[in-house]
Amino acid sequence: MGVRVESMDIIKGIGVSPGVSICTAVVLDAEDYRVPRRTVPKGDLRKEVQRLRKSFLDASEEVSSLQVAQGDLDNKIKDIFAVHLHFLRDRTLRKKISDLIQQQFYTAEYAVSVTMRDIAKNFSQTPDTYISERVNDIYDIEKRLLRHLIGSRREDLKHLTEPVIVVAHDLTPTQTASFDKQFVNGIATDAGGRTSHTAIVARSLGIPAVVALNEVTREVAAGDTVIVDGNRGTVIVNPNAETIEEYQRHAAAIVEHEHELDELAQLPSETTDGTHIALMGNIEFPSEAEITMRKGGEGIGLYRTEFLYLEADHEPTEEEHYQAYVDTIRTFGHGPIIIRTMDLGADKFTQKRLISPERNPFLGLRSIRYCLQNINMFKTQIRAILRASVHGDVRIMFPLITNLMELRQAKWILAEVKEDLEEQGVAYDDSIAVGIMIETPSAALTADDLADEVDFFSIGTNDLIQYTLAVDRVNEKIAYLYDPLNPAVLRLINQVITVGHRHNIWVGMCGEMAGDILSVPILLGLGLDEFSVSPVIIPEVKKLITSLRLSEARELARTVLAYRSADDIRSEVKKVITRAVPAFLKR
Ligand code: PEP
Ligand code: MG
Repeated sequence: MGVRVESMDIIKGIGVSPGVSICTAVVLDAEDYRVPRRTVPKGDLRKEVQRLRKSFLDASEEVSSLQVAQGDLDNKIKDIFAVHLHFLRDRTLRKKISDLIQQQFYTAEYAVSVTMRDIAKNFSQTPDTYISERVNDIYDIEKRLLRHLIGSRREDLKHLTEPVIVVAHDLTPTQTASFDKQFVNGIATDAGGRTSHTAIVARSLGIPAVVALNEVTREVAAGDTVIVDGNRGTVIVNPNAETIEEYQRHAAAIVEHEHELDELAQLPSETTDGTHIALMGNIEFPSEAEITMRKGGEGIGLYRTEFLYLEADHEPTEEEHYQAYVDTIRTFGHGPIIIRTMDLGADKFTQKRLISPERNPFLGLRSIRYCLQNINMFKTQIRAILRASVHGDVRIMFPLITNLMELRQAKWILAEVKEDLEEQGVAYDDSIAVGIMIETPSAALTADDLADEVDFFSIGTNDLIQYTLAVDRVNEKIAYLYDPLNPAVLRLINQVITVGHRHNIWVGMCGEMAGDILSVPILLGLGLDEFSVSPVIIPEVKKLITSLRLSEARELARTVLAYRSADDIRSEVKKVITRAVPAFLKR
């Protein structure tokens, strides 16, 4: 991933949130410095040049003292410091930046950033390996200067006044969730994968996003014009007028296609031979219930409640939980609302950040494990869910179950909370449905035991794939291995659906695979009862479901289960989609 194609300025990554955006970039580097394109009044130019001078002096002093402190250094390190000092003492370089300030009225930090990135670009294009290897030093020097210029005055993205594309090394789900959609029109990151929570949040906010671009933070300088194409997974830096026009047409075509699909919203989600397939939405915030309904979702198949924690600076109270659930139920008005208990940990940190970071957070204290070790917090949430259950068809779902004991412990706590409410005379739905997510291989392999004690399964493929294939879902370097159509994944899913049906419980899916066009026909054929997807994807999935015959999907599933490679499976499913909705494969 992060492959450059055609020319230096088109970068290929993974499109994780659809749509096209053309805007000015703000760049957050790995240390989250934001260097906006800013100017200063003419009267402040002298002050700005002095700030620049001081930053060069302070930075070279810093490097000199580092040299001294290190004593007898090996030659390699000596070389690095010498190169840094050479640049920091270079009057021509400083004059170049200072001219930029005086001629363009730029702030010192913006002038530094633009100039150093320009030099880095030129260096990286030269065939002389000694020079091209100095590129990292240039970025280092830029960072050092920015540290002196910006220091603790780091800016956040809360005070934007014009539309921008955020270019960052990586973003946390919480950072992404806090973006003001009015101004953040696109996201491009070096890191990340299709099912990272940052990608999921971008999708739910409707912000076009491309991740796994590898070095986009190096290619883009603040103030550059950038196109983010979340459908094709590309980012174009400083496009020419012709490309901008072409993309404006492409963006308009996408919107038109979306409008056409939106017309399906009121139609039932039924295969051409008349089988109803439940189509639901995944949400992170209560406000998304409304868009789920507008897009034709029948209910909420996954409410990721941990965002209540991630957004706030305190642990949510029972009332805050309750209000969020009641708001979701009221907005939706009908249909089931599946509330998943907090899935904190891994890339979704808790407020109480761990003092010693976990070595393998995705294998660590996350999700139901965290809840079972923080019982009061868990009980607060369960109380709120139970109280909300009298207002609608509320169901409760436990995440990351790996064994029967964990499920039983969670159910005991649920029973205890019910008893407390009973004693206090507080109303709740005693027959509230209880389900679990199947997102670990151990849960899939012991589905027979688990099915006896729950009302439904929802397959969480985002995690199930990462644990089955041993591929970190947020690591862009191995994203090519993260394949929902890997035969191991399909066989495991088949096993879960078969077992669930044998025990007369319904089996849904709320992982991103349920919205993956190439997976939908197979899942349908495997007998999946419910698809829960990001609300913006509901129309596409519905179009596909309503264009397929269940019998042909079953035939497809039977065929591909015997295949040994994901590529063969892909070709087979493409044949079916080409017959059913040819337009889907042409984009
Ligand atoms: C999953 O793992 O598939 C899932 C839906 O949960 P999350 O993406 O929140 O981990
Ligand atoms: Mg999960």
